[in-house]
Amino acid sequence: MARLGSWIESHPEGIYVRPADAWIDPSEAKAKAMITHGHSDHARGGHGAVLATPETLAIMEVRCGPQSGQPIAYGENIRVGDVDVSFMPAGHVLGSAQIVLEHNGEKVVVSGDYKRRPDPTCACFVPVPCDIFITEATFGLPVFRHPETGGEIDRLLHRLHADPSRCVLVGAYALGKAQRIITELRSRGHDQAIYFHGAIERLNQLYESFGVELGELRPATGATKKDMAGHVVIAPPGALNDRWSRRLPDPVTAMASGWMRIRQRARQRNVELPLIISDHADWDELTMTIRELEPTEVWITHGREEALKHWCMTHQIKACELNLVGYEDEDD
Ligand SMILES: [Zn+2]
Ligand SMILES: [Zn+2]
Repeated sequence: MARLGSWIESHPEGIYVRPADAWIDPSEAKAKAMITHGHSDHARGGHGAVLATPETLAIMEVRCGPQSGQPIAYGENIRVGDVDVSFMPAGHVLGSAQIVLEHNGEKVVVSGDYKRRPDPTCACFVPVPCDIFITEATFGLPVFRHPETGGEIDRLLHRLHADPSRCVLVGAYALGKAQRIITELRSRGHDQAIYFHGAIERLNQLYESFGVELGELRPATGATKKDMAGHVVIAPPGALNDRWSRRLPDPVTAMASGWMRIRQRARQRNVELPLIISDHADWDELTMTIRELEPTEVWITHGREEALKHWCMTHQIKACELNLVGYEDEDD
């Protein structure tokens, strides 16, 4: 009998599903691509045909221009070549999906990026038991344990209220994290206007068009220091230390990222208020998910693979690393 999953090939530029003649999240333009989610290291432009959720396709159109896309709703079953394919929620950002592949009686789940804790801006991760689970491992070390999100948001609000003459500038990845911070603030009762950097405006609008309510938002462009005093301002991480932030009233610089667990990373970006809020599974979520799915094999795509591989082996699960290139440590 052939090796488990022998119909799935790992290449440096992505995962190739041979009987479907299709690639998953390829880092180069391909004739047919199945895309897990809209982050730029997974969703590149230039593919001949794109299979993705309607939300991911809309995000790709905002970021990479028109797509010859085929929208696949969560849970819809389609046939691609000789493979049964469906997209299931991954809980990472709006539209993010795990790709479920069935061929020759074997079931393979490609997680894409995922997390297990609730996120008001996207559908929750749905566990799909499988023979092979192909997982990310961005935070695949036991040191990475993300705290409760509500507590981090409360620390942000505490700093905001401590000095109404200042603003709190939150660096947040433009796709997903920025909108999540806004909705988490709303769910903690913060109903004041939130100012935003121009780079996240179109994604805010896109989220709202898919029914994610963000409350009153105002562009920071054109606002005065006086307007913004006592308010939260959201900007992409790259704007934290550039000229743009000089327009703000004595900002308390915050950043929302799983990497804020590492003090050195916070210091590098001159972050005064590190908020440990991630859209990736932490160590406990990764291991809990593998326990729950009970796969025969785990293949690890990107991140810190070694520790997770070791954990799998001590739990009698066969594990290996796929040497894919082009996936970055996202700022989230
Ligand atoms: Zn991502
Ligand atoms: Zn990623």
